[in-house]
Amino acid sequence: MKVSRFAPSPTGRLHLGHAFSAVLGLNRARDSGGKWLLRIEDLDQTRSRPEFTDGIYEDLRWLGLHWDEPLLVQSRRGAAYLDALEQLRAQGLVYACFCTRSDIAAALQAPHGSAGTRYPGTCRDLPDNPELRSKTAHSWRLDASKALARAGLPTWSEGGERFAAGASDIDDVILARKDAPAAYHLACVVDDAATGVTLVARGEDLRSSTPVQRLLQMLLHLPQPDYLHHPLVLHEDGRRLAKRDLAPTLAAMREAGVDGRKLAANLAEGCLPAGFRLRRA
Ligand code: GLU
Repeated sequence: MKVSRFAPSPTGRLHLGHAFSAVLGLNRARDSGGKWLLRIEDLDQTRSRPEFTDGIYEDLRWLGLHWDEPLLVQSRRGAAYLDALEQLRAQGLVYACFCTRSDIAAALQAPHGSAGTRYPGTCRDLPDNPELRSKTAHSWRLDASKALARAGLPTWSEGGERFAAGASDIDDVILARKDAPAAYHLACVVDDAATGVTLVARGEDLRSSTPVQRLLQMLLHLPQPDYLHHPLVLHEDGRRLAKRDLAPTLAAMREAGVDGRKLAANLAEGCLPAGFRLRRA
């Protein structure tokens, strides 16, 4: 029996790619006699809007997809995230980071800065300074190398196959932000565990999140779900669906007279409307 979840962020209207993901997760769960849960990932309070949350409920009803309880809204879950962060802090695996986005960009461009987009480590070895912390906005980051030394390299299972992360797959990710009690990875693992999720079904664009999420599960002694990273829905010409594209939003399709339940049944068979296709593996 599988429990899967659909975890959209209410930062825009849902599009065809979300519908595909929702249908796939729901069918995998229900075919096994399990449950399909809905989680609203609204921790980014600058981009999340209540009308988009209402849009998610409306679009899922139109598709004929009914979620099982509990419905979880991340902006109401601060205490659970703080508790998890505290457990990681107690293990000495977290440090305060005072960098701004532009500090990080500048460090990465410096002649001897580390290449790529990984966090350059500026605040990693600063001595902890509670007074500075109490006065200065800061985020909390995972000390990836200490965390890997503690837990070992994470592995996970996907479609019956076992995968292993390399150390370079895991960065010093932000666990909690200046303005929110948790960032995506921490909130995701805490909530998956709290709601008994055993199958994380999501787009292949999120595959790179799995190593760090598995590592956090190991450090927090949370159960290990299975993973399913499905192909993305693309425009026929290969462009990705973006939230700012109006055409493939479910709201626009509904207004154009499309039957939502038929669309969901077709998506379950892997049949996409004209003009769209799945990314070939
Ligand atoms: N909130 C994420 C998104 O909308 C999904 C996260 C997940 O499924 O783990 O892309």
